[in-house]
Amino acid sequence: MSSEPENELHRFWAEATLGKLAKWLRLLGFDTCYHRGGRLDDVDQECLQHRILLTRTRRTAERFAGHPVVYIRKDRAEDQLEEVVSALALSRKDLKPFSRCLRCNRSTRPVSREKVRGKVPDYVWQTAQRFTTCEGCKRIYWPGSHTDRALDRIRALFPEDSPGEDTPLRHRSDGNNR
Ligand SMILES: [Zn+2]
Repeated sequence: MSSEPENELHRFWAEATLGKLAKWLRLLGFDTCYHRGGRLDDVDQECLQHRILLTRTRRTAERFAGHPVVYIRKDRAEDQLEEVVSALALSRKDLKPFSRCLRCNRSTRPVSREKVRGKVPDYVWQTAQRFTTCEGCKRIYWPGSHTDRALDRIRALFPEDSPGEDTPLRHRSDGNNR
């Protein structure tokens, strides 16, 4: 697992049933490892270091005793996100929205418009002004319509100081970029 010392946000480890929650947390900028399933004995201990466990079962928490835990009780990912936000009293300043790859959890970096030409659909290249790329999976992100829902959700969760106009809205490409 990559470690990114420049990021001082909370870091999470999510159990296998919480994949959607893990993506939401990445969208907010949190370094979130996701256990894809299999035996807990096989979990990479390095991956667990300095992370808050997100689990629905006491058994998992006991298995990794010593780690801070947030117990998840709700079923819907968006409700689960609310549980995490509430449990840790997260506020807008704790976030770094749209700065991390939803797929592989790495930080994304700005990339010039010229460099993504031909790698994103033409209409996107013509209309989007800012692009970022994941250095892991090379996926390209840009401000896109699907971020509206994400932004609405963030505003609902953090109404006191919602992201301003300057927030770089990045959206996972639809897979046509490779
Ligand atoms: Zn990636």
